[in-house]
Amino acid sequence: MKETPSMTRKQALDTLFDLREAYLRLLSYEQYQQQANTLTRTRDALDVLTRMIYGPHDPVQQYSMLCERCRRSYAERLVKEKGKSISTFCCTPCITALRSEHQLVEGEDA
Ligand SMILES: [Zn+2]
Repeated sequence: MKETPSMTRKQALDTLFDLREAYLRLLSYEQYQQQANTLTRTRDALDVLTRMIYGPHDPVQQYSMLCERCRRSYAERLVKEKGKSISTFCCTPCITALRSEHQLVEGEDA
């Protein structure tokens, strides 16, 4: 019998998110359009696994998606990081860290 990989459930989920992101980077726009249904289902599947591992999010304070920086808790705000063209869904500890590192574009974060 094969040994169980030494990986936590959170690390396993992380790996699946990484795989999806790596795959998305490989797709051309046409390929992305052709596979939209599969990609949506993959996103839904990751959401289901996220709920199983992290429990339900607080709909008042949190988004239903994990923080895009650490993936260790649900995102609470959408922030603008310096040097990035698109906003980032962030948890409070990451926002605090970004602010102390002066990496946030203040005033524009929603
Ligand atoms: Zn975070």
